[in-house]
Amino acid sequence: MQIDGSSALITGGASGLGLATARRIIDRGGKVVLADISEEQGEKAVAELGSAARFARADVTDEQSVGAALDLAAQQGPLRFVVHCAGRGGDRTRIIDRERKPGELDTFSEVIRVNLIGTYNVLRLAAAKLAENEVADGDRGAIVLTASVAAFDGQIGQTSYTAAKAGVHGMTLVAARDLASWQIRVNTIAPGIMDTPMLGRLRSDIRDSLAATVPHPKRLGDPDDFGRLAVELLENPYLNGQTIRLDGAIRMAP
Ligand code: NAD
Repeated sequence: MQIDGSSALITGGASGLGLATARRIIDRGGKVVLADISEEQGEKAVAELGSAARFARADVTDEQSVGAALDLAAQQGPLRFVVHCAGRGGDRTRIIDRERKPGELDTFSEVIRVNLIGTYNVLRLAAAKLAENEVADGDRGAIVLTASVAAFDGQIGQTSYTAAKAGVHGMTLVAARDLASWQIRVNTIAPGIMDTPMLGRLRSDIRDSLAATVPHPKRLGDPDDFGRLAVELLENPYLNGQTIRLDGAIRMAP
């Protein structure tokens, strides 16, 4: 399946890894719809990307808005690709804590709701839409989800985020085999420390010390590293059911 001439929906496309993926897809001759809760960022991104991009205000936890974004993407051209990057950071709470944060369980639920249930919502709506396609080069469509290396290493203080992202890995294993009869491939990228707004504004010495923890190359992940891999996962017909670490061989500290 070629990106050239196809349409893609990118959730979380207004920023960071999603936006970098949009740039790559457009470079390859594709069209994109950026689905995001941030209207301001989305409009800014579309202004940068030009006529091959459109913005849809969508919350991944809301079925209707995701459905509308998929419909918009299908109007742009044959919708064959969905890249799901939308997500939010987690809490910073230890399991045993002298002073429990008020509303801790509400935050825990919200992280699971956006990062895990939101992923399932996008996965099932995207799959139903791609299943309507004719088979082209063996596939009806391809989906890329986003986990995190936290899913494999565990990140202390980030229980909800780690659990949600481990869930995304599990979902990938199921989805690839469940959707095989529809000729839809599903793969996931598990990024390490990527240089995006999610990381926040870091002091340069903190940024340097984080970069120094990456074995090779000694730098933070560039969003374009993600975009390149996403394109490969979308196009390569034999890649299915994988969660691929994209992390410069970093392992989260115990
Ligand atoms: P980012 O903050 O730059 O982008 C995330 C985008 O998702 C934002 O535009 C935000 O508005 C959008 N979003 C948040 N909640 C949403 C919702 N409910 N519905 C629709 N859109 C929503 O962050 P990023 O680094 O590009 O993160 C992309 C994905 O990568 C996330 O799933 C994140 O968990 C994952 N990730 C990031 C890193 C990292 O170091 N940056 C590491 C591992 C995993």
